Amino acid sequence: MAAITSRKKIRICVIGAGAAGLCAARHLSRDLEKFEAAVFEQDATIGGTWIYNDNISIDNNNYPIHTSMYKNLRTNIPLKLMNFPDFQLMDQKRPSCGTHEQVLNYLHDYANHFQLLQYIQFNTKIQSIKPQMNSENWQQTTFKVTIEHLNTQIIEDQIFDAIIICNGHFSTPKIPVIIGIETFSGDSMHSHDYRTPEKYENKIVIILGAGFSGIDIGVEISDYAQHVYLSHNNSRLITVLPLNMTEVQGIESINGNNFILNDGTIIIADALIYCTGYHITLPFLTDECRIKVIDNRVTPLYKHLINIEHPKMAIIGLPSHSIPFPLFHYQVQYFLGLLLNRVNLPSKDKMLEDDNLNGGKYPHKLGQNQWDYNNYFANAVGVDKLPIFYEIGYNAVYSIRLTNVLQYKDTEFIVEDDGETVHVNI
Ligand SMILES: Cc1cc2nc3c(=O)[nH]c(=O)nc-3n(C[C@H](O)[C@H](O)[C@H](O)COP(=O)(O)OP(=O)(O)OC[C@H]3O[C@@H](n4cnc5c(N)ncnc54)[C@H](O)[C@@H]3O)c2cc1C
Repeated sequence: MAAITSRKKIRICVIGAGAAGLCAARHLSRDLEKFEAAVFEQDATIGGTWIYNDNISIDNNNYPIHTSMYKNLRTNIPLKLMNFPDFQLMDQKRPSCGTHEQVLNYLHDYANHFQLLQYIQFNTKIQSIKPQMNSENWQQTTFKVTIEHLNTQIIEDQIFDAIIICNGHFSTPKIPVIIGIETFSGDSMHSHDYRTPEKYENKIVIILGAGFSGIDIGVEISDYAQHVYLSHNNSRLITVLPLNMTEVQGIESINGNNFILNDGTIIIADALIYCTGYHITLPFLTDECRIKVIDNRVTPLYKHLINIEHPKMAIIGLPSHSIPFPLFHYQVQYFLGLLLNRVNLPSKDKMLEDDNLNGGKYPHKLGQNQWDYNNYFANAVGVDKLPIFYEIGYNAVYSIRLTNVLQYKDTEFIVEDDGETVHVNI
């Protein structure tokens, strides 16, 4: 596909001022001769999911609370590896993994350092985005964006040349329907609403799902609960767990307080926590945007990023099993490179082939492909690659986590001056 040609400033709408939206603002602000940036954030402050809130359910504007942060959360990635590559501030050696307050402070430091607040309009919620095709040529598309000003309830439309969607993907709980759940009168909630462990004192708790949240919340609750059952159908974990935490099969059905598991075992529990993940939602995209979300696969997208039907629209942060902040750094720069004619897209057929590779339980999973993914973008726009210590450090910490979820966050994490030698000490 040819690239975009334009002489006037490109007006860009960024949705959200979490880490991804801030990253978008940071790179837009580097080229203000070419870009005009408007970041819309429904909250009154920056940080997105890193803003801890005691409350659950709905916010002051009657919208669902966005954050899924819990009070005692510590990062599952060493702080050092969560730095944006161009803002290396977090360097805590032990414990390597920090608190959510530290990450939020870092995001404030990032925003202040690059003077990003001037681009953000707080208390504004994007209600809809509709492409306006002035011709068959995608480069000519503009977008009508409907914005709700939450403090005044005024709704207005604005026209933009490009859209960067940074609305976050861990906000809308995914809750499976379990046969007999209506007979369970105990406490049940999704991890999105989990805040503190104390209320599980002496309770028998069953946690459904053994992803990051399931294990993390289970371990935290085990300090209070009589027993924690970690129920899931994946391969068995090989890590040590607290003595009062047991891995069991997934839940087949529920009868009162009896949880019937897939292998026929029955467990009696007082409380249930769904750690079953989140739905990806893009509620503001009109049908004309031609993006669908099917089983958490957002399609059609080129490189998990660019709307193939409207390439001047990008969605930041969909890839899972990766280090988010550095990934945002490369995704944003690639997309801006496209808008500035520094990058050419392949043919539509080739991009659709790329999109067709996405599927399965985690359609946007990168894992070890994240390094090539980032490098591809870095090469395409001619910026520095991600320093190698990110990959080495990430792999070292994850091999410890595999067998020791209890201690990996407390490890010492040191990167030597050569930028390649990483020490992770228990
Ligand atoms: C419990 C939990 C623990 C995590 N732990 C880690 C970790 O240890 N390390 C790590 O690197 N990552 C972690 N993550 C992943 C985390 O989501 C990413 O690190 C990153 O913060 C995501 O940033 P984001 O900007 O994409 O989304 P968010 O932080 O969710 O920000 C999205 C923003 O968009 C705004 N918004 C949404 N819709 C609209 C709209 N229509 N109009 C206007 N504004 C809107 C929201 O208010 C929000 O401010 C964790 C996530 C969760 C939920």
